[in-house]
This record gives sequence, C-alpha cells and structure tokens, in this order.
Amino acid sequence: MTTRTKNNTVSEIADFLKTLDRVAVTTHVGADGDAIGASAALVRLMHKRGAEAVFCHGEAVPSYLSWLLPDEVLTNLPPGYDLLVADTSRADRTGVPVPESGARVNIDHHEDNPLYAEYNLVTPTAAATAEIVADLYAALGVPIDRPTAEALYVGIKTDTGGFNFRNISPRAHELVADLLRAGVVPAEVNERINRRGSVEQLRIVGVSLANAVQYGEVLISTVETSDYERTGATEVESKESIDQLRTVSGVDVVAHLREVPHGTKGSLRSETVDVGEVARHFGGGGHRLAAGYTTPRRPNEAREELLEVLEGVVDLGGER
Ligand code: 5GP
Ligand code: MN
Repeated sequence: MTTRTKNNTVSEIADFLKTLDRVAVTTHVGADGDAIGASAALVRLMHKRGAEAVFCHGEAVPSYLSWLLPDEVLTNLPPGYDLLVADTSRADRTGVPVPESGARVNIDHHEDNPLYAEYNLVTPTAAATAEIVADLYAALGVPIDRPTAEALYVGIKTDTGGFNFRNISPRAHELVADLLRAGVVPAEVNERINRRGSVEQLRIVGVSLANAVQYGEVLISTVETSDYERTGATEVESKESIDQLRTVSGVDVVAHLREVPHGTKGSLRSETVDVGEVARHFGGGGHRLAAGYTTPRRPNEAREELLEVLEGVVDLGGER
C-alpha cells in the first residue's frame, strides 16, 4: 500500500471515488449525528455513482439515527470492499477494524486527524463531516435528494449544537438553506432525533446535573455504575446532560466523566480552552472545543486527574 500522508483536494477525492466500485463506509465508535449522517450520505453518493456501497459498524447504531441508514448495516467489513472512513480522527477509533491494507479514504474535520488513509480529505474549518460530503456531491455532479439532505442536515445540526457552536459558518448556513430546498423539514428532523428520549434517560441526566461540581471556571459532572443501576439508564444516555452543563454562567470548561467497564469516559467541552489538547494528555483527542478520552481510573479519581491537568490551563477558583 502506498500511504501518502498528505491531504487531498475535494476534486482529487472525487476523482478517486470514481474509480471504486465496491465500497464499505464506516465511522467512529460511539457514533453521533455527524458520524451517521455523513456516512449515510456517503453510502448514497457511491450508490448513485453506480458502485456497490454498504455501511458497516461493529456497534449498534443509536435508534434515533438508524432511520438515516440503509436497512442493512453490516457488523464487519466484507472482503473485497474498499474501506471509506467518515468523521473519524484516528484509525483505531473506526467502527470496524481497518484491514492490514489500510483505509482507502479518510473524510473528516478533526484538526488532530493524522491523515491515516491512502487518500485523505480533512477540512478542520468544516462545521461537520457532512459539509465535506456535500462538497463531494457537488464535485461529482450528483444532486442531493431529500433522504441525503436529511442525513447531511442531521450531521450539521448535531455537530454545531443546533447551529450554536463556534464552528458554524455562513457557508454551513448556506448549505443548510440548500438542504431545506431539497426537502428537509427541520421540525420533522427535530422530532425524530430529539424527541426519542426515555424517562430513564431523563433520570440519568438529572443525576448527572445534580452531581456537577464547580471549580472556578470548570464544571465537572461524574456518573457512576450505581447511578445507571438506580435509574435504569445506560452510560451513553448520561452524556445527554452535557449541553445543559454548559449553561452555567462563568464556566469555560465542562467535563462529563462517566464510568465505563474499564474506567471512565471523559467528554470535554469549552468556549475558549483547547480541550483537544487536554484530552490528548489522556490518550484521547477530538476538536479544540469538543474532545474526549478514556482513562483507567474510576470517576472520582478521574476528576482529580483532570483537575491536575487543568490547573495550569484555566482558573480553578482556588478551590483546590
Ligand atoms: P464526545 O465527548 O461527544 O464523545 O466526543 C467529542 C469529540 O471528541 C468527538 O469529535 C469525538 O470524536 C472526540 N473523541 C471522543 N472521545 C475520544 C477518544 O477517546 N479519542 C479521540 N481521539 N477522540 C475522541
Ligand atoms: Mn463530526
């Protein structure tokens, strides 16, 4: 395999995609709206180009997103298919293992993406990977139909926190206008992705909010296995609290630390601090203002470990 660790242009990737006739698309573990939206649109693009295209992911796709995908989702990479990876910052975070021969194409917007595929299209200025996939539709002259528009819209809407985060741009809004012209009805999409919760989820979010502790400009919430047990909710459902944690005035860094089988998963968000760098301290990564990591420690120790790293970065209010 020739690994060209360089970034390609939209037209180079478009030309390369034209040469492929059997592709499997995957995305990052813990898939979110952009992961699934961008992937679904990429599968549809390759289909429209006349290629055989499947989506594969070893984990269950969250039910609020599965309507965007083709009916059949494979849990393994089928032999003889070229692997295209969407929205995934590292080759070890893919939904199916990358084969020995490597991924063919890596389409992403994470600034820490090391360009791990044979062809790479990594655009950190894009609000969402969905925005980059839309560029590929344009470059290949494939019209965006309504299901594709819905998938792209979900990617942009979710990765920008509903058009609120600093990554939203005039260009992303212009694309969204085109997606609405292609048939997206925002209220319907909202109904499908945001009104799918359960009472159990509501309860774990409540626990997560109740557990939040403020240290100056930092707000940290921890959630433990006993919390999942008493609410009947799952670990991922607890992360739904993160945007509410961000509403506290004077807080610049928000951390959600939830217990997972071998330690704690941390989700970090900020308005100004490079939390991608903080996550990389623990072997994780992500965007500058939204990042994550997993540590072998339990939530309480994970909080202390995180505060030590944040000590020199942000005002902890003399609380420690
Ligand atoms: P979340 O907190 O929603 O799980 O993730 C926020 C961002 O950080 C996403 O872009 C996600 O891909 C990235 N991220 C989350 N966890 C990890 C991790 O363990 N490693 C790396 N490299 N990125 C992560
Ligand atoms: Mn994304």
